[in-house]
Amino acid sequence: MSEIAANLAAIRRRIAAAAAGRPVSLVAVSKTHEAAAIRPALDAGQRIFGENRVQEAKDKWPALRASFPDVELHLIGPLQTNKVRDAVALFDVIETVDRPKLARVLAEEMRRANRFPRCLIQVNTGAEAQKAGIAPELADPLIAVCRDEFALPVAGVMAIPPADEDPAPHFRLLAAIATRNGLEMISMGMSGDFEIAIRCGATHVRVGSAIFGHRA
Ligand SMILES: *Cc1c(COP(=O)(O)O)cnc(C)c1O
Repeated sequence: MSEIAANLAAIRRRIAAAAAGRPVSLVAVSKTHEAAAIRPALDAGQRIFGENRVQEAKDKWPALRASFPDVELHLIGPLQTNKVRDAVALFDVIETVDRPKLARVLAEEMRRANRFPRCLIQVNTGAEAQKAGIAPELADPLIAVCRDEFALPVAGVMAIPPADEDPAPHFRLLAAIATRNGLEMISMGMSGDFEIAIRCGATHVRVGSAIFGHRA
């Protein structure tokens, strides 16, 4: 078994143990890793992947998808409005919707392309100045605008807690936003904290380095 396949198997076991029978999806974060590193994960049956840059995903994934057409690709990095056309064409889930203007441009492009990737609202649970995401107190209104005004397919929420804090309160805050808005998908938890995220209600965890190794 390749090292990546072994890592993947170990992460799947840990997810299953933390989830205690509840379904939790693994988003394998393949950013910065080349196709040669991604193929062993595909060969091992992994089908959901996360990328943080539109251009990088556009360079890597069309060829991989030719062999694995059932791949589900998630955008987990910031999206600029000038990249919306490529993002809608390429991704199945856009996890980083965090402002009304982006929501409006996404909605227009989805109608034009007749392709409707599910959208998650990214919440800046720690209110960090440098971090993307809508402020927690503005999450409900943004969700309402995305649904009611733009008719975006809003499926859930996503967050990246502050690196230097206990993530559990941030995970619970995100789960509460999802629940009170009737949203199904809760994307939270990375290599260092995905088990805590699962115990706080994550439906999707985004794990990169624990599968593919450290990034350059
Ligand atoms: C890189 C990244 C991850 C994966 O982080 P690891 O610590 O390598 O598991 C998860 N989510 C987002 C948004 C990322 O950018």
